[in-house]
This record gives sequence, structure tokens and C-alpha cells, in this order.
Amino acid sequence: MKIFLKNQELENNLLFLQNIINLYFEDSFVLLGEGANTLSFDIKNEEAVRVTGYLTLDGQSYTATATRTETDKKHVKQAIAETLVTMLTDCTGITQSWGTLTGIRPTKLYHRLYRQGLSHEAISGQLKQDYLISQEKLDLMREIVHTQNEAIPDLYELGREVSIYIGIPFCPTKCAYCTFPAYSILVHKNDVPEFLVGLLHEIAVTGKWLKDNDIKVTSIYFGGGTPTSITPEDLKILLDQCYASFDMSAVREVTVEAGRPDTIDGETLTVLNDFDIDRISINPQSFTDETLKAIGRHHSVKETVDKFRLARDFNMNNINMDLIIGLPNEDRTNVRHSLEETRRLRPESLTVHTLSFKRASEMTRNKEQYPVAPREEIMQMMEMTRAFAAEEGYKPYYLYRQKNILGNLENIGYSIDKEYSLYNILIMEEMQTILGIGCGASSKFIHPETGKIENYLNPKDPKSYNKSYEHYTAEKIKKLNHLFKAED
Ligand code: SF4
Repeated sequence: MKIFLKNQELENNLLFLQNIINLYFEDSFVLLGEGANTLSFDIKNEEAVRVTGYLTLDGQSYTATATRTETDKKHVKQAIAETLVTMLTDCTGITQSWGTLTGIRPTKLYHRLYRQGLSHEAISGQLKQDYLISQEKLDLMREIVHTQNEAIPDLYELGREVSIYIGIPFCPTKCAYCTFPAYSILVHKNDVPEFLVGLLHEIAVTGKWLKDNDIKVTSIYFGGGTPTSITPEDLKILLDQCYASFDMSAVREVTVEAGRPDTIDGETLTVLNDFDIDRISINPQSFTDETLKAIGRHHSVKETVDKFRLARDFNMNNINMDLIIGLPNEDRTNVRHSLEETRRLRPESLTVHTLSFKRASEMTRNKEQYPVAPREEIMQMMEMTRAFAAEEGYKPYYLYRQKNILGNLENIGYSIDKEYSLYNILIMEEMQTILGIGCGASSKFIHPETGKIENYLNPKDPKSYNKSYEHYTAEKIKKLNHLFKAED
């Protein structure tokens, strides 16, 4: 559907308006001009802001007004968003529990206000007024922020430390919803040795700089891809390099994604044991075999359970499991079954994702082959996971939202026994610099004082990485110098 915006002066806000409309009508476009479906705003900005929105869709007209006492750009935009959401709610009957919030990390917003000294009540009031966020989501944000501060008491003081992300771009097969760098290890087995040369270089150079400049490492996370796709021998070489290069004495947590059960065996677990690593992920996504086949995971439910038990035998005491809500052809019965199986295994952490149709994924390219449950049912499934978590004593401790996520919902990380992933908190809340090392690894340079963020992405495919890792390493060292030395 095309919707024509009449206000020329809002040309720079087309995408912002379209993102809101897409929450109600997928695949809609907002263009400047005239047509059957129109949108316009009457904006009065004097001592206060008053915006009146007009929307005509399929011959029906809607209008709404919003006001703000502050008159800067940000508040004008908020008022525009509010009128649009109100009109779309009138039109569709759909209430957005996240209100007008798109593209902002909800708990980051909450932390910002909390750090300014506002009480929880004041923060709730302000977020409700500015973004129309529901009470349920505000309560969730409050609980998460509280838990994060409990998990990392010095959370607001970690800006002068960094965390490390190491990207290994190999997996057994590519999942249909995936857009991460994940090359089939079967096809790319011979690329691993050359890739490791670059990776070991990056680790050595970065580790030396951090040691020389006395910058501590808070946490290390091995992701990708699935790091356990490489051989146990290669994994050992990689871990040896990390332990030799970084000052491990201050590292509070090391996590290795072993997400695909088909990459786990006794030899790999022995290597992890040797390095005292006991925090891993083993991700079922679903406990229905047909679903696993449909999404291209090529392992069975039995293998997930067997590998989980094997990991326990090897003293893995802090295991995370991911589940995805809204997988193709799944309904509440499948989710109930997945939760029952999760109850039996009782991992320390449970991350509940809502399926997101990422632009470059196989699932989005061939959407008709992957039918998903209607919005109402997705909401009910999510509710089931929340109720399950509460019954079983899992506390929510981080959340994030993605574009094109089903039902405009969120992904929530839960944990029991305070086995929180510190890395996940640090990256979600953007509290410190994350150094991305390896293929497709994304770095976030965060200024320790101002919080200003600069993203920097390593090449996604191993061939480009192998050719240019020295350049990318040098660039990151320059950025580190700028970030941490400029203010000395
Ligand atoms: S296991 Fe993870 S990284 Fe690998 S293909 Fe699946 S979603 Fe992508």
C-alpha cells in the first residue's frame, strides 16, 4: 500500500513515518505527493507544540491531536508520532504496547533517565507521556533495569573498560531466518586455517594495546556463526591466543556460543573445560523436529537434549537456551511443548526471541513458504513464555527489539540463580566499548564520558577478511587511541 504525505517539509521523516505505519500495515510505503491514501500534519509550534494529524485510508478518514510543552525538534517528532499512532489504532483496532517507540533501545532510555536521578514513578510517567508505552512494558523495563544494576553494581562506571566479541563465521548449515555471517563449515573447511591467521593477529595486536594502555577487559564473547563449528584443535589454538594476549585476571565472564547442538562433542567440551569456560549456549529454537527441518537447522530435538546432557556431564554449569516464538507452522501447542521440554532441562538462562523477518534472510525472500501464526496468537505465545518464566523463577534481565519483529514485540533474556550474561547486558545497554574481532564482527566505540557511539564493521566474508584484517586491526587501534588517549 502506498500512502502519500502532503507535508513537503517532512521529507526527511519519510522513513520514520513509514516505520510506524509498518507496525500496522507491513510492506507499506510513504511517499511525498498526492494519491488515494493520504497523510498530513498541521504543526503549530509557538509557546507549545500542537500537532493535528489527518489520515485517509481506503476512503475512511481519521484525525488526532497531540501536544508537547517543549518545542524542540525531538518533541515535535514525538507529537507527530503520537497523532499517527492514535489514528492507526483507530483505523485497525491494534494497540501497540511499545507505543511510538521504534529504533530506540527501551531499557537504554530508562537507564538514561534513571542516571539523571529520576524516580521509577517519574520515569514511567515521562515514558508513558512521550511514547505511549503501556504500563506492562514500563513494569518490565523497570524490573530489567533493577536486575541489571544488581547483576553489575558498577554498570555505570565501566566505560573505561571494554568487552571483546570474537566472530567465527562458520555453521553446519544456514538457518532460514539468519543474516549473520554463517558459512557452511563443510564447504568452507579449508578456509579455516587462513581465517585463523587473521584472527590470531587481531587478538594479539588488540590484546597488546589493551595491556600497554592498562584498559581492562570486562567480558569476552565468542559468537558468529557458531564458534564450535571449528575443530577442537583450532578452538584450542584460538583460546590459547586469547589467554596469552588479554589480561584475563580482570575478565568477569567468558561465553562460547555452541548454539548448534550438531557442533558439540566431548573433545570440544574438554577444550572448554581446560580453559575453565562453563558458560555456553545450546539453542533448541524449537522442540519440534518438523520445525527444525523447515528452518534448515539439520539437527534433531533428540540431539539437542543429548548434547545438553553431555555438556552437563562436562560441568557446563551455566547454559543458555534460545527459543523462537512464531516459527513457521508453529502454534501454541508447539510452544507449550517447547516450554515443557525446557522445564525438564532447566538451563540457567533462557532467551525468548520473537521471529523477525530480516531483509536478507531466506525466510524473507521466500515468505510464502514460511507461514506464521496470526498476530493475536503470537501475543498469546509470548504471554505463555512470560508466565512460564515467572512460574519457574526465571527473571527477565535484558531485552531488545528488532525491525520487522512479529507483533512488534521483543526478545527477552531470562535467568535463574543470578546466572546473568554480563556481556549481553553491556552490549544491549551500550555502557562500554565492544571490540569486534573476526569475520563480520561489529565494534562499538563508546566514548567513556559523552557516551557518543561509533560503529565499525569487519568484513563479513572470510575471503575479504583474510585480505584486509591488518588494515581493520590498525583502524581499530587508531580509534582506541582516539577514544582513550585523547582525554588523558
Ligand atoms: S546457528 Fe545462528 S549463526 Fe548459524 S546459521 Fe543459524 S542463526 Fe545463523
